[in-house]
Amino acid sequence: MNPHLIFVRRTALALVLFIAAFLTLAAQEKTQCNVKVTLLQVNDVYQFAPVDRGKSGGLGRVLTLTKSIKQENPNTLFLMAGDTISPSVESITYKGAQMIEAWNTIGLDYATYGNHEFDFGPDVLAQRVSESKFNWIAANVIDKRTGQPFGGAKRYVVREFGGVKVGLFGIVLPETKITSRPGENVEFRSPCDTAKEVVSELHGQGVKVVIALTHLSMREDKEVARCAGVNLIVGGHEHTLLESHAGMAPIFKMTSDARELGRIDLNISPDTGELDSIDWKVIPVDSTTKEAPEFAAIYRKYANLLAELAKPVGRTRVALDARSKENRTRETNAGNFIADSFRKATAADVGLMNGGSVRADSLIGPGRLTQRDLLSILPFKNKLVKIEVTGATLRAALEHGVSRSAEDSEPGGFPQVSGVQFSFDATRKPGARLVDVKVNGLPLDDAKKYTLTTTTFIALDGGDGYSMFKGSPVIIPPDRAPIDVDAVRKALGTRAIAPKVEGRIKRLDTAQKSGANCK
Ligand SMILES: [Zn+2]
Repeated sequence: MNPHLIFVRRTALALVLFIAAFLTLAAQEKTQCNVKVTLLQVNDVYQFAPVDRGKSGGLGRVLTLTKSIKQENPNTLFLMAGDTISPSVESITYKGAQMIEAWNTIGLDYATYGNHEFDFGPDVLAQRVSESKFNWIAANVIDKRTGQPFGGAKRYVVREFGGVKVGLFGIVLPETKITSRPGENVEFRSPCDTAKEVVSELHGQGVKVVIALTHLSMREDKEVARCAGVNLIVGGHEHTLLESHAGMAPIFKMTSDARELGRIDLNISPDTGELDSIDWKVIPVDSTTKEAPEFAAIYRKYANLLAELAKPVGRTRVALDARSKENRTRETNAGNFIADSFRKATAADVGLMNGGSVRADSLIGPGRLTQRDLLSILPFKNKLVKIEVTGATLRAALEHGVSRSAEDSEPGGFPQVSGVQFSFDATRKPGARLVDVKVNGLPLDDAKKYTLTTTTFIALDGGDGYSMFKGSPVIIPPDRAPIDVDAVRKALGTRAIAPKVEGRIKRLDTAQKSGANCK
C-alpha cells in the first residue's frame, strides 16, 4: 500500500477522533452549563385530602414530593393552573378558605384563576386572594374599576435563576363571565390579544423564556400558543391528562385533585437566556408517598368536618353513575334513584331532576356510601316542592328538557325522571321531539292533573329554562318538604340499593353530535 495513502488515512482517522471527542466535550459542556428551572404543576384541585377512597391525590403527599424535588433543585416553582375554591363538599361550608390554607401550608408559588374561582362571587374570591401567601397571576381578568387584574392578581411575574430570566403570566377562560358569577365589574379579555401584549412586554425586558399558566380549553390554549409565541403552556380545566403542542409550545395538563404532579424541567442556556430543551414527566400521587408531617395541622383543623363527611349513609351494590355528561344526555341509575326519592318522599305522581344539578362527575361505589358521597352528588341542598301540573305542562317540561339534546353536548336541563317513561327524537325541531310519553304506564293526558315533585330551582325559579312550572298550584311548599339530599338519604334506607337504567328515557335518533374538529 502506498505509504502516503496510509498517512492520509491515519490523519483522517485522527481528525475524526478529535472531532468526535470535541463534540462529546461540547455536548457535556452544554448540559453541564444549562440552568435547570423545574416547574411543578397541578390543576383543578378541589380536595386537600386524598381522593378515590384514599388511593390518589392528597396535598400532604404532594408536599412530600415537592420538598424532595426542591431539595434536588432549588430553582423550582410550584404552579396551580386554576380551579380550587369550588366546587367541593368542604366548600359548601368554607367557601374555599380550606384550600387556601392547604396551599399556604404546602408552599405554592403561583396560581391562576379557574372559572370556578368565581362561583361564590367576586367578593369571596377577593377575600381568598387576600388570604393567599402565594401570588395569583391573571393578565386577562380585569377589574373594570381599576383597569388592573382582579383581586390584586398580577399580570405577570419575572423570576431570575442563575442569570437567566423566566416570565410567567396567567390567562383565564372568557366564558367564566357567563358560567360562573364574576359580577359586572370583572371583564375577561381576549386570551390571544392579552397574551401577545404580555409576551412582547416580557421580551422587551429581556425575558426569553415565557410560560403561560392558563385555565382554558385546549382549543384556546392552542390559539394562545400559536398567536403569542410562548415557550410553554401549563394548563388545566379538562380534568384529563393531556400533552399537546401548538406554535412552539408544548401544552401540559394534569387530571384533577392532584392525582398527579407534573414535573417540567426547563434547560435554559445561560449564554443566550433561551430555552434549550424541556423534560417532562408525570409523577403519580398515591399511597406509596407518605403525607408530610407539616400537613397534619390542616387535618387537625378540619377534623370535625372530615369525620362528619366520612359518616356512612347507606350502601350500593352497583356503581352510581353521577357523571356529568351522562346525567345531561341520558337516563342514569343515579338520576333514577334521585328522581324516585323525590317522588316517594312526597307521594307525587312524578319526580323530576335536571341532570345539570347531579354533580360529583364520577362513578360512586359499589360499596359503602358516605355523607361526602351524597353531598358530592347533590351539593346545593336544594329545597323540594310538590306542585300540581296539567299533562300539557308536563309535556312542555319534557319537551324543554330535550330541546338542547342535539344542539348542546351537555345540556344542564336534561330531565332525570321518576313515574314517567318517554322517547324522543333529537333530529326533530326543538319543541316537537317527544314521540311517546307515559305517566306510570298510561299515555300522558294533556288535560289531566298530575302531581310533580322537583327542586325549587326548577319549579319556582324557572332554573335551566323550566319556566312552564311558574304559577302552578303548590301542594307541599318548600318549608314543609325535605331538601334534596335528605330525601335521597331517607331513600337509601338500611338495605343496599341497586338502581338500574330501565328504559325510562329512550333516544330514538342514533346520530350523535360528533363535534366539529376545529381544535
Ligand atoms: Zn375549569
